[in-house]
Amino acid sequence: MARHSGGRSWYGKLVGAALGVTVLAAGASVWTAQAGPTSDAPPKASKPAAPRSVVKPVSVTIVHASDAGPRGVNITIDDGPDPIWTPRVLDVLKEYGVKATFCMVGTQAQAHPDLVKKVVAAGHRLCNHSVSHDTAMDKASQAYQKQQILDAERMITKASGGVRPVYYRAPGGAFTPYSREVAASRGMRPLGWNVDTKDFERPGTDAIVATVERELPNGPTLLFHDAGGDRSQTVQALRRLLPELKEQGYAYGYPVR
Ligand SMILES: [Zn+2]
Repeated sequence: MARHSGGRSWYGKLVGAALGVTVLAAGASVWTAQAGPTSDAPPKASKPAAPRSVVKPVSVTIVHASDAGPRGVNITIDDGPDPIWTPRVLDVLKEYGVKATFCMVGTQAQAHPDLVKKVVAAGHRLCNHSVSHDTAMDKASQAYQKQQILDAERMITKASGGVRPVYYRAPGGAFTPYSREVAASRGMRPLGWNVDTKDFERPGTDAIVATVERELPNGPTLLFHDAGGDRSQTVQALRRLLPELKEQGYAYGYPVR
């Protein structure tokens, strides 16, 4: 599949070249090359599809790095959206001006499209966290893995109003080479984590904060949750950590794609 979707743009360029269109520079679109500065604006129908609808394959390797550089931190929030906890997490992120990555479960996104749209409207990024959060999906058939990833992609994209998830995080980290290939071919970079805050176990706000302080030197991608039970400790921990890490010179970013 990666070969097919990756091949479309090449095919377009080859067709353009065959028609005698001069490609002025790498990346120049056929439309741009055709429409000279003096020509009339062409009818809308001849414009290429909006870039948002074009799916570009990405690397199959599991990313941890931050696009905010060597002192970057990626806040990643898994398992939602949830009608109680997602709005509270969004409030804290907004209060400190932090953008995060939300790894959504397909059925949750389908049930709460308003929340998915709120996450997108606030400038956060979407990540595909499978349809049903089966942490043993790495032991299942390839057909099942593919269905879990592609169906969740459709559910999340529909719920968001057309904004696609740009990462894939396997539930419980149950990646396989095949599932990474499926996700990457659809433009979803496999996403890992460096610091598991274990907020899911409700160890107390102090323990969540301490885990981040202790383990952040391991790498920039922090794992939190906004669903699956009472996440008040997560909200409180974020309220302490977000300003604290900023004071220490960290910058918030997104995982590299
Ligand atoms: Zn999860």
